[in-house]
Amino acid sequence: MARNRQPAPTPLNEVALIGRLTQQRTIVVEALIQANGFVSAQALHGQLAADSSPVGLSTVYRTLTALADAGRADLVRDASGERLFRYRPGPDHRHYLICTECGLSRPVDSGPVEDWADNIAQASGFANVRHTVELAGVCPDCGRRHAAAEPL
Ligand SMILES: [Zn+2]
Ligand SMILES: [Zn+2]
Repeated sequence: MARNRQPAPTPLNEVALIGRLTQQRTIVVEALIQANGFVSAQALHGQLAADSSPVGLSTVYRTLTALADAGRADLVRDASGERLFRYRPGPDHRHYLICTECGLSRPVDSGPVEDWADNIAQASGFANVRHTVELAGVCPDCGRRHAAAEPL
């Protein structure tokens, strides 16, 4: 399926956004951008080690968390409660529908959620109101696989 090409993200800008510029942080940000989907700190850490650019797990975790805090990564939890991160190319955050079986993630239309959150923020007088909305389920492919594996 053809995808709209985003302008190439610039990891150095992203790293500058979250504070001190270090080589290790740059490596983590680049790896997250390349992951092109939701990944856990553990998985990214393992991938970096396999690529012989070892970065400590705590550095990976701190960098991902800082990116999420800076609004440049989306954060969800998988079925076991592990946090998964995904690079967010634009300033607008997005919501995703995630398959709990294979990790497939796709952006979903969240207009009503944004309107609702904006209204609450305005009505309450709260500043910097943020929200987290997670949608998880079983994707069509995994659903079919299950159906095929089921004994009749
Ligand atoms: Zn799936
Ligand atoms: Zn939202």
